[in-house]
Amino acid sequence: MFAGVLGYPVAHSRSPAMMNAAFAELGLRWRYLKLPVPPERFAETARALPGSRYRGANVTIPHKIAASAIADELTDAAEAIGAANTLVFENGRILADNTDAGGLLDALGEPVPSTALVLGAGGAGRAAAWALREAGARVAVWNRTAERAAALASELVIRHVRDPEPSELVVNATSVGLAGAEQPEDAARALGLAGVEAPTVLVELVYGSGPTPLSRWASARRARVVDGLEILVRQGARSLELWTGRPAPLEVMRKAVIAP
Ligand code: NAP
Repeated sequence: MFAGVLGYPVAHSRSPAMMNAAFAELGLRWRYLKLPVPPERFAETARALPGSRYRGANVTIPHKIAASAIADELTDAAEAIGAANTLVFENGRILADNTDAGGLLDALGEPVPSTALVLGAGGAGRAAAWALREAGARVAVWNRTAERAAALASELVIRHVRDPEPSELVVNATSVGLAGAEQPEDAARALGLAGVEAPTVLVELVYGSGPTPLSRWASARRARVVDGLEILVRQGARSLELWTGRPAPLEVMRKAVIAP
């Protein structure tokens, strides 16, 4: 069988290494491939995959909204978030799920803090805000472009804030820190966190080859940091479990995702 990641571009995806290591560990003769597909070819390609022995696919930028639109069936997460990162092909039907939401909660662990501030109102912010609200946290959202935070908050029936406020949990769902070059204080300032009491826990969705600027800012203030790579592993683990029905070998996936 096959699985793969549909995106544009997908050249730098770490998912093939992570998933192929997991399939090998489970003794499955499956292959996970990069599937670079431009937006205008997404729907026809996704619909053709089951005919080529694909059991499912991950979906990344820029196709997550289109993936939820082509599905025959959506999980609650995919429906509420309006975007999917996982497709399962079953009996001629396409099921779409959003494992970014559950993956974040798996990486965060229990107990879920009672107050959460989500920074960012793009796709990742949306999934994070929905997941944390479902898990019982009081969620507020902040975004550089305030109108987007207001729109997301009204859709999810959560609060939006013009300026970040102290919160037990902060989620960085922006691309601040992606280049990795900023100083910790500069990253905090870009996100309106300078002068705000640090959280107990930072969920850092951004990941790279080492600690991000914001994770260094939070660690220096004794916050626990939930790493973006762990979230990548956990969302992938949920996808793999949907396709194979087998428990994901997390340790093998963690090692594969950081291998050069
Ligand atoms: P997106 O839809 O393009 O949203 C980008 C967000 O970043 C927007 O809220 C944008 O604010 C904000 N932003 C960009 N530059 C900024 C700056 N200089 N200062 C303040 N805010 C800024 O992207 P996405 O899909 O939500 O992804 C967001 C991040 O999460 C990315 O770094 C991505 O790699 C990461 N991610 C990680 C995982 C994982 O598994 N670890 C999963 C998904 C995403 P405006 O609205 O003002 O432009």
